[in-house]
Amino acid sequence: MLKYLDVLKFVNHGNPEPAFKVVKTQEEWQAILSSEVFEVTRMKGTERAYSSELCSTFAPGLYACSCCGTLLFDGREKFESGTGWPSFTQPIDAHAVAYKNDRSYGMRRIEALCSICDAHLGHVFPDGPAPSGLRYCMNALALKKMEAKYEKSVFGGGCFWCTEAIFDELKGVVSVESGYSGGAIANPTYREVCSGKTGHAEVVQVTYNPAEISYKDLLCVHLSTHNPTTLNQQGADTGTQYRSIILVSNDEQRHVAESVIMEMQEGFDRPIVTEIRELQAFYLAEPEHQNFYMNNPEEGYCQAVIDPKLDRFRKLFAARRK
Ligand SMILES: [Zn+2]
Repeated sequence: MLKYLDVLKFVNHGNPEPAFKVVKTQEEWQAILSSEVFEVTRMKGTERAYSSELCSTFAPGLYACSCCGTLLFDGREKFESGTGWPSFTQPIDAHAVAYKNDRSYGMRRIEALCSICDAHLGHVFPDGPAPSGLRYCMNALALKKMEAKYEKSVFGGGCFWCTEAIFDELKGVVSVESGYSGGAIANPTYREVCSGKTGHAEVVQVTYNPAEISYKDLLCVHLSTHNPTTLNQQGADTGTQYRSIILVSNDEQRHVAESVIMEMQEGFDRPIVTEIRELQAFYLAEPEHQNFYMNNPEEGYCQAVIDPKLDRFRKLFAARRK
């Protein structure tokens, strides 16, 4: 998460170079943008406060640059600032927005620009809500709202406290819920599942944006962050509830799962024993099991088991983290 000190570092030491840039002349931009959008994004204009209904829209969705379509903000980071401009506490990615000193109009402000096409978006201020403390005060004209089409997938790789903590950090993942699946009874409790008699596995249901991360990539992360070669066991946790499992919703997911396992087998000395099974139902686990790692970072299990797994994930998938 970016805080004001990070923004100041970008301003003072330069913004990271993006993988590519979109470069056009002012004439070329003028030809493809409406005059209002051109005035704000290419001439550093400011729209009138409360001039757009985007200020008071808080439905889920993503916000992209009006000029080049790069994703800039997630609607979940949007808040009511009372300023009359759409306001966010965080960009969708640490490098999505670039920052510059702006001394215009006798003020000292930090200008926020699209890092790909240098569109002027607005300004960023250090008076936003916790935890980032940032307020991205944006021109609605610089943003276009994308309808979110989220998908869900369910899989297990041992204790769901671990799997949830890992997927929570992955870019493109909107939410992660811990629960039970793959067994015989409806609405099982944690105690019943732990008895090993229900046939359920501890799993997570991952809601993700396929525009940002594919099902295949989710499975690659999943198979790389637990041991898919130990039957009914992850480390010291043993029992069928800890089995490695992918619950597929359709034939396409099944094909992807089969081919990912085949591809990844080469990286393992022993056969991958991950079960692929049709998803019948996902049962949400009890509230105390949701966000367990986030809520109990000092817990012995979190420090002994989850911290090392997260470290490994963070090294392996540094570029895919939020
Ligand atoms: Zn742009």
